[in-house]
Amino acid sequence: MRIDRFTEIVNIDDRVFLFNIKTGAMDEVNTHIANELLKLQRKGSFTPLECNLKESLIEEMIDRGYITYYSDREETDERKWFLAKHKEKAKKEEKTASLLLDNVVGNNWCYTDSSIENLVIGKIKFVDLLKNIGNNDLTNKIDLWLLLQNRIDDWEWIDREVSINGLKINSLFTIVKNKTELEEIKNWIKITPSAPTVVHIKYEKEEFGYFTFTKVDNKIINKENNIIFLSKHPFFCPFIYKTFFVDGSGNISYCVKKLINKEQIGKIDSTTRKITFEHGWGEKLFTANCDKSDSCIYSIYCSNMCPYLNSIYKNGDECSLVQLFESLLVKKIKCMM
Ligand code: SF4
Repeated sequence: MRIDRFTEIVNIDDRVFLFNIKTGAMDEVNTHIANELLKLQRKGSFTPLECNLKESLIEEMIDRGYITYYSDREETDERKWFLAKHKEKAKKEEKTASLLLDNVVGNNWCYTDSSIENLVIGKIKFVDLLKNIGNNDLTNKIDLWLLLQNRIDDWEWIDREVSINGLKINSLFTIVKNKTELEEIKNWIKITPSAPTVVHIKYEKEEFGYFTFTKVDNKIINKENNIIFLSKHPFFCPFIYKTFFVDGSGNISYCVKKLINKEQIGKIDSTTRKITFEHGWGEKLFTANCDKSDSCIYSIYCSNMCPYLNSIYKNGDECSLVQLFESLLVKKIKCMM
């Protein structure tokens, strides 16, 4: 057996943590265990008798993915199989339609592109879009991407129009300029009975994080998230395959940035109101950005389908994604401490 190559041993503030970036497992360990694992990692392969660890602990570490029986070759095959399975499952999942009502929100979500025009969808186009989506069997769930502070006065109307068209609001995505705006929206969610249960809010132009506010029994639960997900799924983008973005002209893309840049994968036919996906959702989805993907443990997160990751990657000769993923990993461990 071997220490799994996706296992990271991380020192933070005099404490030692194990993290497996493939399984998402994270545990704090004492220095004896950490030193033993480092010794075994240097050794390469080992037998249970060569581990200075209790048998039950070894079993647990195998379960959590820190130790593996696989050879490098078997591990690569297993990873390919796992990604293919994950992709197929994600493709079959029920989709949500994301209506981009204020371009500024989409433009600020994953990263900000100053050249993008701020288009705003007015009431007539919005109703038309709802009719188009409602007329299809693809989904009845929608996410609204809007500048909430500018649309609060119209909220009751928006909510009514959505249900008239047989649709249900899944969540809202919005951006704020400062803490005061954040608190105002949080308060609005609390006091407005028709406010959606889940609202995602991001600070304008801030790089990585956003907040998710969930209303449960009139209480607001607040969670901080990363834009790039180091979760148990080897998949960084929370939207690809789970949602399709739609703009005011009925163009469709799997990515909000690609939609704004008119790189569409589908369209709503304005006469028949039917949605067609002309181009696939990207066979290259799980292809890594660079040719070192076989040796880089972060390659499972670095899909070249994401313009956000591509823009970071292209910043220099050295891969800036590795640095980014490592800093997010430490941030994630700190959040869980
Ligand atoms: S693919 Fe990248 S840029 Fe597009 S929505 Fe996902 S994270 Fe954002």
